[in-house]
Amino acid sequence: MTGTFVGMPAFPTAARAALGDTQLRHNMAHATGVIRGKRAAVVGEVEAWEDLRLSGAAVKETALRDLDVQLETLEASLVAGGAIVHWARDAEEACRIVADVAKSHGVDEVVKVKSMATAEIGLNEALQAEGIAAWETDLAELIVQLAGDLPSHILVPAIHRNRAEVREIFLREMAAVGRPAPADLTDEPAVLAGAARAHLREKFLRAKVGVSGANFAVAETGTLVVVESEGNGRMCLTLPEVLVSVVGIEKVVPTYADLDPLLRLLPRSSTGERMNPYTSTWSGVTPGDGPQEVHVVLLDNGRTNALADDVGRQALRCIRCSACLNVCPVYERTGGHAYGSVYPGPIGAILNPLLKGTGVDAQTDSLPYASSLCGACFEVCPVRIDIPEVLVHLRAKVVDGHRDDRRPKAEAVAMKGAAYVLSDHRRLARVERLSGLGGRVLTRFGKKRLPGGRAAAGALPGPGASAWSGARDLPAPPRESFRAWWARTRGPGSEGPSTTKEGDR
Ligand code: SF4
Repeated sequence: MTGTFVGMPAFPTAARAALGDTQLRHNMAHATGVIRGKRAAVVGEVEAWEDLRLSGAAVKETALRDLDVQLETLEASLVAGGAIVHWARDAEEACRIVADVAKSHGVDEVVKVKSMATAEIGLNEALQAEGIAAWETDLAELIVQLAGDLPSHILVPAIHRNRAEVREIFLREMAAVGRPAPADLTDEPAVLAGAARAHLREKFLRAKVGVSGANFAVAETGTLVVVESEGNGRMCLTLPEVLVSVVGIEKVVPTYADLDPLLRLLPRSSTGERMNPYTSTWSGVTPGDGPQEVHVVLLDNGRTNALADDVGRQALRCIRCSACLNVCPVYERTGGHAYGSVYPGPIGAILNPLLKGTGVDAQTDSLPYASSLCGACFEVCPVRIDIPEVLVHLRAKVVDGHRDDRRPKAEAVAMKGAAYVLSDHRRLARVERLSGLGGRVLTRFGKKRLPGGRAAAGALPGPGASAWSGARDLPAPPRESFRAWWARTRGPGSEGPSTTKEGDR
C-alpha cells in the first residue's frame, strides 16, 4: 500500500535530506529536462498561445466568480442524467461516502483511475481500513503503490524512479497482489508496460466498482471529463457496474464550449503532446452502456477557504498540468517528497497552505518559502496563476500568524534593530564604524574569498542568522564606510552627505 505524508518534517529539513540523494537528483534532472523540452516544442507551435492562456484563465475565473450557482446547476444536470450527487465538506466525509457505496455492493476491492482529489483525501488508506483494496491502474501510480512509496509528481508520481528500479519493484511486489511479473522481465519500457498491462487486466475484468476523479465538470450538461494517456482510465470508467467520481468543486466549468481552450492547453502543458490520447466524457447513466450506478462526490476540503482568499483564490484555476513543477529549479533538485504532500512543487507550495490554512502546522507554513521566486512557474502556467504573487502573499500570512507569539522571532528582533539604526544617521554612522572594525578583523583572518578577492564574512551567530548566512556568501563589511571615506577625502568636519532632512520626515 502507498505510504503517507503524515508526520513529514518542514520543507528545509526534508529538502536537505533529499539533496543528499544523488540518484534522486540524477533521476529528477533527467525526467524534468525531457518533459520541459517536449512542452517547449509543442507550445512553440501555437502562435496564439498567450491568447489561449488568457481564454483558459477566463473560463476558470468565470466559474469561480459564481461558483455556488455553477455547482447547483451542475448538481441539477447530474441528477437529471441519472447520477447520485453527494456533497463532502472534508476528506473524512468523502472517504466515508466512497466506502459506503463500495460496501453497499459487498465488494472488497475497487479499481481506480489516477486522481489527485482521491490522493488528497487519502482514499486508498481509508478504504484499506474498511477492508477494501483500492488498486491503482495508472502505470506510475501502480509503481508507487507496489513499492509502498509516496508520489512525487502530479502527473508522473514515480518520476523519482528510473526503469531499473521499476523492474526491481515489479519482480519483487507484483506476485503478492495478483499476477506476478514474468521472470525474464527486462527494464525496457515496452516490456515493463506489458507486465503492468497483464497484471492490471485481471483486476479490470473482476472489479465491480470503479473510482475516479475528474479533470473538468460541465455545469450545463452534467458532463464529467477524464483526461489520460494510457487507456486505463477508459477501462475503469466503462467496465465496472458502479462508478464513484470524487470531484473537487473547483473543477466546474459553465458550458461544454468552455472545455475547448482547456483541452487544448492541458496536453501541451502536461505531457508535451498536441492532443490527449484518451479523453473520456460521461453524463450520468446511459442504460445498457457503462456503469449503471454513477455517484459523484463534490468535494470541498478547504477549497471554499481558498476561494475566500482574494489573492490565493487564483490557485483554484489550476488544471493540474504540472508544468510548473517541471520548470521549478527548487523542485528539480529536491524532488516532490520534500513538500510533504500529494501536491508538490510550486502549485503545492501555494495550494497546501490555501487548503489547510496558514498557522496550522510548521510543515505547511514552510511551503511558501520553498521557492526562489524566479517566476518560471508563472511563465509556463496555462491558466496564468501568478504563483510568485501568491507565495509572497502567503509568506506575509505566515509571518502575521506569528505576531502574537510571546517569544520574539530573531527576524522580528533584527528588523526592529535595523529600523532603530536606520532612523537616525548618527546611529547609522556609529554602526558603520563598528562594522568597519569587524570588516578589518575578517579581512585579516578570513579564509574564504568572494569573486574579486573580497573577504567573505562566513557564518553569522545564532540559529536564524546562521541558517541565513549558511546558504549565502555574505561579504565582509568594508574596512572603511562611505561616510568615513567622504570625511577623509572631503576634509575634517564633513559628516558626509545626509539623505535625511527634517523636512523630509
Ligand atoms: S499551477 Fe498552473 S502550471 Fe502548475 S499545475 Fe496548476 S495549471 Fe499547471
